[in-house]
Amino acid sequence: MIIGVTGGIGSGKSTVARAFGELGAGWVDADDVAREVVAPGEPALAAIAERFGEQVINEDGTLNRAALRQIVFDDPSQRVWLESITHPRIRERLLAQLERLNAISPYVLLVSPLLFESGQDALVNRTLVVDVPENEQLARTLARDKVSEAQVRAILAAQLPRNERLARADDVIDNSHGLDYTHQQVSALDQRYRNSRC
Ligand code: ADP
Repeated sequence: MIIGVTGGIGSGKSTVARAFGELGAGWVDADDVAREVVAPGEPALAAIAERFGEQVINEDGTLNRAALRQIVFDDPSQRVWLESITHPRIRERLLAQLERLNAISPYVLLVSPLLFESGQDALVNRTLVVDVPENEQLARTLARDKVSEAQVRAILAAQLPRNERLARADDVIDNSHGLDYTHQQVSALDQRYRNSRC
Protein backbone atom coordinates (compact mmCIF):
# COMPACT_ATOMS: atom_id res chain seq x y z
CA MET A 1 0.00 0.00 0.00
CA ILE A 2 1.47 3.35 -1.07
CA ILE A 3 0.10 6.61 0.33
CA GLY A 4 0.93 9.85 -1.50
CA VAL A 5 1.41 12.69 0.99
CA THR A 6 1.17 16.22 -0.35
CA GLY A 7 0.42 19.79 0.68
CA GLY A 8 1.66 23.26 -0.19
CA ILE A 9 4.96 24.74 0.97
CA GLY A 10 5.16 24.94 4.77
CA SER A 11 1.96 22.93 5.28
CA GLY A 12 3.75 20.29 7.38
CA LYS A 13 4.47 17.39 4.97
CA SER A 14 7.87 16.63 6.51
CA THR A 15 6.48 16.95 10.04
CA VAL A 16 3.67 14.52 9.21
CA ALA A 17 6.01 12.09 7.40
CA ARG A 18 8.31 12.01 10.45
CA ALA A 19 5.30 11.27 12.70
CA PHE A 20 4.30 8.33 10.47
CA GLY A 21 7.95 7.23 10.44
CA GLU A 22 7.99 7.12 14.26
CA LEU A 23 5.04 4.71 14.05
CA GLY A 24 6.98 2.42 11.70
CA ALA A 25 6.06 3.56 8.20
CA GLY A 26 8.74 3.90 5.53
CA TRP A 27 8.77 7.02 3.39
CA VAL A 28 10.44 8.47 0.31
CA ASP A 29 10.76 12.20 -0.37
CA ALA A 30 10.22 13.01 -4.06
CA ASP A 31 12.29 16.22 -3.72
CA ASP A 32 15.31 14.22 -2.51
CA VAL A 33 14.98 11.85 -5.46
CA ALA A 34 14.60 14.79 -7.88
CA ARG A 35 17.93 16.11 -6.57
CA GLU A 36 19.62 12.71 -6.76
CA VAL A 37 18.90 12.22 -10.48
CA VAL A 38 20.84 15.41 -11.37
CA ALA A 39 23.79 14.79 -9.03
CA PRO A 40 27.31 14.76 -10.57
CA GLY A 41 27.92 11.53 -12.48
CA GLU A 42 24.25 11.04 -13.34
CA PRO A 43 23.31 10.77 -17.05
CA ALA A 44 20.58 13.42 -16.63
CA LEU A 45 23.18 15.99 -15.52
CA ALA A 46 25.39 15.13 -18.50
CA ALA A 47 22.43 15.63 -20.87
CA ILE A 48 21.57 19.00 -19.25
CA ALA A 49 25.20 20.15 -19.49
CA GLU A 50 25.35 19.13 -23.15
CA ARG A 51 22.21 21.10 -24.00
CA PHE A 52 22.78 24.29 -21.99
CA GLY A 53 26.56 24.38 -21.60
CA GLU A 54 28.84 25.64 -18.84
CA GLN A 55 26.33 28.23 -17.61
CA VAL A 56 24.28 25.56 -15.81
CA ILE A 57 27.22 23.84 -14.08
CA ASN A 58 28.88 25.19 -10.93
CA GLU A 59 32.65 25.11 -10.49
CA ASP A 60 32.38 22.04 -8.27
CA GLY A 61 30.51 20.15 -11.01
CA THR A 62 27.08 20.36 -9.39
CA LEU A 63 23.99 21.70 -11.14
CA ASN A 64 23.50 25.45 -11.03
CA ARG A 65 19.81 25.29 -10.16
CA ALA A 66 19.22 29.04 -10.28
CA ALA A 67 20.61 29.27 -13.84
CA LEU A 68 18.57 26.29 -15.03
CA ARG A 69 15.43 27.63 -13.34
CA GLN A 70 15.86 30.91 -15.23
CA ILE A 71 16.26 29.12 -18.59
CA VAL A 72 13.11 27.03 -18.20
CA PHE A 73 11.18 29.98 -16.75
CA ASP A 74 12.00 32.04 -19.86
CA ASP A 75 11.26 29.26 -22.36
CA PRO A 76 8.51 26.70 -21.63
CA SER A 77 9.74 24.41 -24.44
CA GLN A 78 13.01 23.99 -22.53
CA ARG A 79 10.99 22.99 -19.47
CA VAL A 80 9.25 20.30 -21.53
CA TRP A 81 12.65 19.00 -22.67
CA LEU A 82 14.07 19.09 -19.13
CA GLU A 83 11.10 17.18 -17.74
CA SER A 84 11.41 14.58 -20.51
CA ILE A 85 14.95 13.92 -19.23
CA THR A 86 14.31 14.04 -15.48
CA HIS A 87 10.76 12.73 -14.94
CA PRO A 88 11.26 9.15 -16.20
CA ARG A 89 14.40 8.82 -14.07
CA ILE A 90 12.68 10.24 -10.98
CA ARG A 91 9.75 7.88 -11.51
CA GLU A 92 12.02 4.84 -11.95
CA ARG A 93 14.00 5.65 -8.80
CA LEU A 94 10.87 6.41 -6.76
CA LEU A 95 9.33 3.10 -7.76
CA ALA A 96 12.50 1.19 -6.85
CA GLN A 97 12.69 2.85 -3.41
CA LEU A 98 8.97 2.41 -2.72
CA GLU A 99 9.20 -1.26 -3.66
CA ARG A 100 12.20 -1.79 -1.39
CA LEU A 101 10.42 -0.11 1.55
CA ASN A 102 7.14 -1.92 0.85
CA ALA A 103 8.89 -5.20 1.58
CA ILE A 104 9.82 -4.07 5.11
CA SER A 105 7.05 -1.61 6.18
CA PRO A 106 3.32 -2.11 6.79
CA TYR A 107 2.70 0.67 4.23
CA VAL A 108 4.86 3.36 2.63
CA LEU A 109 4.55 7.07 2.00
CA LEU A 110 5.55 9.00 -1.09
CA VAL A 111 5.99 12.59 0.13
CA SER A 112 5.76 15.03 -2.76
CA PRO A 113 4.87 18.74 -2.82
CA LEU A 114 3.76 18.37 -6.45
CA LEU A 115 2.08 14.95 -6.18
CA PHE A 116 -0.94 15.99 -8.27
CA GLU A 117 0.81 18.59 -10.45
CA SER A 118 3.53 16.12 -11.56
CA GLY A 119 1.24 13.12 -12.09
CA GLN A 120 3.04 11.18 -9.32
CA ASP A 121 -0.39 10.43 -7.84
CA ALA A 122 -0.55 7.68 -10.50
CA LEU A 123 2.09 5.82 -8.45
CA VAL A 124 0.04 5.68 -5.22
CA ASN A 125 -3.04 3.86 -3.90
CA ARG A 126 -4.35 6.74 -1.78
CA THR A 127 -3.64 10.44 -1.36
CA LEU A 128 -3.27 12.31 1.92
CA VAL A 129 -3.30 16.12 1.94
CA VAL A 130 -1.69 18.03 4.82
CA ASP A 131 -3.78 21.17 5.07
CA VAL A 132 -3.31 24.58 6.66
CA PRO A 133 -4.68 28.01 5.62
CA GLU A 134 -2.45 29.98 3.25
CA ASN A 135 -1.54 32.65 5.84
CA GLU A 136 -0.23 29.87 8.10
CA GLN A 137 1.81 28.36 5.23
CA LEU A 138 3.34 31.78 4.66
CA ALA A 139 4.10 32.43 8.36
CA ARG A 140 5.63 28.97 8.95
CA THR A 141 7.75 29.07 5.79
CA LEU A 142 9.08 32.55 6.65
CA ALA A 143 9.95 31.33 10.15
CA ARG A 144 11.70 28.20 8.74
CA ASP A 145 13.54 29.42 5.62
CA LYS A 146 15.69 32.41 4.69
CA VAL A 147 13.25 33.62 2.02
CA SER A 148 11.24 36.75 1.35
CA GLU A 149 7.48 36.97 1.50
CA ALA A 150 7.45 37.62 -2.29
CA GLN A 151 9.40 34.39 -2.91
CA VAL A 152 6.97 32.35 -0.82
CA ARG A 153 4.00 33.96 -2.57
CA ALA A 154 5.52 33.07 -5.97
CA ILE A 155 5.88 29.41 -4.87
CA LEU A 156 2.31 29.41 -3.54
CA ALA A 157 1.08 30.75 -6.89
CA ALA A 158 2.88 27.94 -8.78
CA GLN A 159 1.26 25.22 -6.64
CA LEU A 160 -2.26 23.88 -6.90
CA PRO A 161 -4.80 26.12 -5.07
CA ARG A 162 -5.81 24.82 -1.63
CA ASN A 163 -9.42 23.97 -2.58
CA GLU A 164 -8.35 21.99 -5.69
CA ARG A 165 -5.81 20.02 -3.68
CA LEU A 166 -8.42 19.24 -1.00
CA ALA A 167 -10.93 18.19 -3.67
CA ARG A 168 -8.47 15.54 -4.90
CA ALA A 169 -7.57 14.16 -1.45
CA ASP A 170 -8.71 10.76 -0.19
CA ASP A 171 -7.62 11.72 3.34
CA VAL A 172 -6.83 15.08 4.98
CA ILE A 173 -4.77 16.03 8.03
CA ASP A 174 -5.67 19.41 9.52
CA ASN A 175 -2.25 20.71 10.63
CA SER A 176 -3.43 24.20 11.55
CA HIS A 177 -3.53 23.43 15.29
CA GLY A 178 -0.94 22.14 17.72
CA LEU A 179 1.36 19.21 17.01
CA ASP A 180 -0.55 17.01 19.49
CA TYR A 181 -3.67 17.24 17.38
CA THR A 182 -1.65 16.41 14.26
CA HIS A 183 -0.11 13.37 15.95
CA GLN A 184 -3.59 12.14 16.96
CA GLN A 185 -4.71 12.32 13.33
CA VAL A 186 -1.54 10.53 12.19
CA SER A 187 -2.17 7.71 14.71
CA ALA A 188 -5.75 7.24 13.53
CA LEU A 189 -4.66 7.08 9.87
CA ASP A 190 -1.77 4.76 10.76
CA GLN A 191 -4.29 2.28 12.18
CA ARG A 192 -6.42 2.48 9.05
CA TYR A 193 -3.49 2.14 6.66
CA ARG A 194 -2.06 -0.81 8.63
CA ASN A 195 -5.34 -2.63 8.43
CA SER A 196 -5.94 -1.43 4.86
CA ARG A 197 -9.35 -0.23 6.06
CA CYS A 198 -9.55 2.76 3.78
P1 ADP B 1 6.64 21.15 4.51
O1 ADP B 1 7.48 19.89 4.56
O2 ADP B 1 5.23 20.92 4.05
O3 ADP B 1 7.28 22.29 3.75
P2 ADP B 1 7.31 21.34 7.36
O4 ADP B 1 6.93 20.00 7.91
O5 ADP B 1 8.76 21.63 7.16
O6 ADP B 1 6.47 21.66 6.03
O7 ADP B 1 6.66 22.44 8.32
C1 ADP B 1 6.88 23.83 8.07
C2 ADP B 1 7.29 24.52 9.38
O8 ADP B 1 6.16 24.56 10.25
C3 ADP B 1 8.38 23.77 10.13
O9 ADP B 1 9.25 24.72 10.72
C4 ADP B 1 7.62 22.99 11.18
O10 ADP B 1 8.40 22.76 12.34
C5 ADP B 1 6.44 23.90 11.48
N1 ADP B 1 5.21 23.16 11.84
C6 ADP B 1 4.73 22.03 11.27
N2 ADP B 1 3.57 21.64 11.83
C7 ADP B 1 3.28 22.57 12.79
C8 ADP B 1 2.20 22.75 13.73
N3 ADP B 1 1.16 21.91 13.79
N4 ADP B 1 2.26 23.82 14.55
C9 ADP B 1 3.29 24.69 14.48
N5 ADP B 1 4.35 24.59 13.63
C10 ADP B 1 4.33 23.55 12.79
